[in-house]
Amino acid sequence: MPRKYVYSFGEGAAEGRDDMKGLLGGKGAALAEMTNAGIPVPPGFTITTTACTLHRELGTIPAEVSRQIDEHLAVLEQRMNRTFGDADEPLLVSVRSGAKVSMPGMMDTVLNLGLNPEAVRGLAESSGDPRFALDAYRRFIMMYSDVVLGVERSRFEAVMSSARRKARKQTDSQLSAKQLEKVVTAFEKIVLDRTGEPFPRDPRVQLRGAIEAVFGSWDTERARRYRKLHDISDALGTACNVQAMVFGNRGERSATGVGFTRNPATGEREFYGEFLQNAQGEDVVAGIRTPRLLVELEAVLPEAYRELQDIALRLERHYGDMQDFEFTIEEGKLFMLQTRTGKRTGIAAVKVATDMVDEGLITREEAVIRVEPVQLLQLLHPVFDPAARAEHEVAAVGINASPGAACGRLVFTSDDAVAEAEAGNEVILVRHETSPDDIHGMNAAVGLLTVTGGMTSHAAVVGRQMGKPAVVGCESLRINAAREQLEVGGHTVERGDWLSIDGTTGEVILAEVGTMPSEVVQVVTGELDPAKSTIFAGFQRLLEWADLTRRLRVRANADTGPDAEVALALGAEGIGLARTEHMFFGADRMPKMQDMILARTEAERRKALRRLLPLQRRDFIALFKAMSGLPVTIRTLDPPLHEFLPNPTELKVEIEVMKATGKSKGQRKADYEARLAELEAIYERVLSITEINPMLGWRGCRLTILVPEIIEMQARALFEAAAKCISNGVSVDPEIMIPLVGDVGELRRQREVVERVAKEVEAKLGVHVNYKIGTMIELPRAAVTADKIAEQAEFFSFGTNDLTQTTFGFSRDDAGKFLGRYVDEGILPRNPFVSIDREGVGELMRIAVSKGRAARQGIKIGICGEHGGDPQSVGFCHDLGLDYVSCSPYRIPVARLAAAQAVLHERGVEELRTRARRNLRYKTPPTYHDTALGHDA
Ligand code: PEP
Ligand code: MG
Repeated sequence: MPRKYVYSFGEGAAEGRDDMKGLLGGKGAALAEMTNAGIPVPPGFTITTTACTLHRELGTIPAEVSRQIDEHLAVLEQRMNRTFGDADEPLLVSVRSGAKVSMPGMMDTVLNLGLNPEAVRGLAESSGDPRFALDAYRRFIMMYSDVVLGVERSRFEAVMSSARRKARKQTDSQLSAKQLEKVVTAFEKIVLDRTGEPFPRDPRVQLRGAIEAVFGSWDTERARRYRKLHDISDALGTACNVQAMVFGNRGERSATGVGFTRNPATGEREFYGEFLQNAQGEDVVAGIRTPRLLVELEAVLPEAYRELQDIALRLERHYGDMQDFEFTIEEGKLFMLQTRTGKRTGIAAVKVATDMVDEGLITREEAVIRVEPVQLLQLLHPVFDPAARAEHEVAAVGINASPGAACGRLVFTSDDAVAEAEAGNEVILVRHETSPDDIHGMNAAVGLLTVTGGMTSHAAVVGRQMGKPAVVGCESLRINAAREQLEVGGHTVERGDWLSIDGTTGEVILAEVGTMPSEVVQVVTGELDPAKSTIFAGFQRLLEWADLTRRLRVRANADTGPDAEVALALGAEGIGLARTEHMFFGADRMPKMQDMILARTEAERRKALRRLLPLQRRDFIALFKAMSGLPVTIRTLDPPLHEFLPNPTELKVEIEVMKATGKSKGQRKADYEARLAELEAIYERVLSITEINPMLGWRGCRLTILVPEIIEMQARALFEAAAKCISNGVSVDPEIMIPLVGDVGELRRQREVVERVAKEVEAKLGVHVNYKIGTMIELPRAAVTADKIAEQAEFFSFGTNDLTQTTFGFSRDDAGKFLGRYVDEGILPRNPFVSIDREGVGELMRIAVSKGRAARQGIKIGICGEHGGDPQSVGFCHDLGLDYVSCSPYRIPVARLAAAQAVLHERGVEELRTRARRNLRYKTPPTYHDTALGHDA
């Protein structure tokens, strides 16, 4: 018995099944499955992925496959009662690719195959519309020539536009049958000229060509690249679906449309979609005619409508998920062309998943696995009002660094941002790039836009941390600082003009686009009663289910009391990273910090530090109070000192202007000399500590080892804060973390200082504080010597931002210039600053975990780099056996969900689904109108 290469579907019984995706591809399996479920599908057949593999090996379709195709074609003709190439009732087919894993838009499709001059006449007669038949033919020639014969599309498009010009028509659909006849002649001539052969008229030749082209499209450059990016094996091959064409444009009892079994924007359980009467599928998408709401189909074709609704419900129940379907009604008869899992917004994803649990369609675990973790971000950030958004054109697109929509007046400096915000205006801060100097402006702005920088740039990290929309690395922007103008895409806007950015898509719009606030955030910040938000209720339920499943703990990267409170409300189980350097950038602290840096003697420096101590203590008290007893990891000062001093060029300019004018800005003449001397001292100091490569320079513990007064002050502030909290009945669990350790000797030195200060404070205040000392693992050397380091560390936290930088040797701040290309060109599968590079950085982590645990049993290990909020990286951390992940407050829900999904994947999702199906009892009502759903799942 020869192997089976071709499987029929449609009308009656299919030869395939849903679980044959590997052989039939996703589309073929769905068509078979719909057939088996008694759903009307235009008949056809699927040529298997095995046939594709043979075609790839042999360069041709093997004889046995051809024989089976012919056999199935004959059956198809019989079933349809139409003949290929027939002058009366021609059979027309579509030929589409369909791999096991959906690869949208990557491979080829040919529609209306089977047309030739005789069949066009047949189609004209049977449809009573010669124009329609000719239009179908010219579309077919164009599509076939492009896909199969390799003739450039542009040549045909040129003919179309010249035909429109000659006929003085705006659109192709306005061309008459006569004009289309000329177009067809011109098309045929192009094919002859370009290929040396006439356009194939024999439908069997056409079919063979189309099948070979579909198989061949598996190996195009773009399909290969797509597979590489999505980890899809090249060996799979695509199936090829040949299906009878049905027409929704055969009069008033015909229609075509698309639908969803629920509203994909809100998740509401409603029959949602659009249709056009007497129209082709393409017309719905092309927007030439305005489609009508699907519910209006009831009045037009009531029987087909009811059948469609019934099928939609059955499909949803069958697949256990919201479906997105395409249908055609040909002279009153309904056909389903496609069904697949419907794409949805984050809000809809949560609503559909939780509703389906209530309806008994899926289990809680399935609900947890169903929602994409990053989709939860959409529930946290303000969004553009879709209607308002549609009215404007996109001026530029950058990197979508921090999701959400923001709209405000354009400002170019942080001081302006603060001033405008104080005056009650919402502003978007546009900078070439931001730096710690901009914190006040970033805080005041509603959104951030930068010309340079990548996913871990300052603007991106801080934007996410603040929960502020940010678009970074928008290289097509030109800032003219002197004129306070922004040039983009041929437009120029000025300070104070409206600007809108969408941090979810990276889009920049030069207009005011209305936004809608996120309900969840309103609840979290206490502005909205949780009982009033169903969106929040669904969000909360889903995350509670996730919490019951996950093993990884989730902490927050938070530096202030208010940030910590938001984090807690979003489910944080502690603080995994408080970056103390962020605490010194405020206007009240900066001068004191500068005094400390400019101090000439240790005594002067200690004096300056004494003034910083109470402020730092206050910060720590706020964090301890917010977290009341949960672990709080406080990291000692990390960045290079020059970051606390002004920009040297700006300083030099200020000094020279003062000298030239004999005046100082905003100061009395009497203060001139003192001010000049002060500025010159600062300038000298900036120059003396500015480094060529500060990221690899005198930062982290290297700084606090050589200037131990700093870490002493920080440790003192921490222990005093802890003691104060304990005295006031607030429990504390502090963890002191030393950054940028590469050798255990560094950690040992820092540990001595911290332990000494702890004892001093205990002796002075009489309060004992339990604490841990640990380190970041953010240098390759630390990872490979983790056993030694573990002797001095009670915990490790992977600083994967620096670990990625130092493992690859990619500068965090400059990699944006080339990493995009690396990813585009497939050199790297993804940006390693966004998602952990498992082979390199991940391997170092693995070594550190194993050596660290071998040296110190039960050592607590977490991660606090930006990867801690990236779902794939969270999954990797779960697999590595880390204890916790720590991320920006607004990423906490993402991490909670991703951590639960990691557990479910470990258990095996397929097993989960099968078990779920066995145990569920459907509570879905039979129609959309019955809303009495059970809520006791
Ligand atoms: C890191 O390097 O991953 C980290 C968390 O530290 P920072 O980003 O502050 O350097
Ligand atoms: Mg670091």
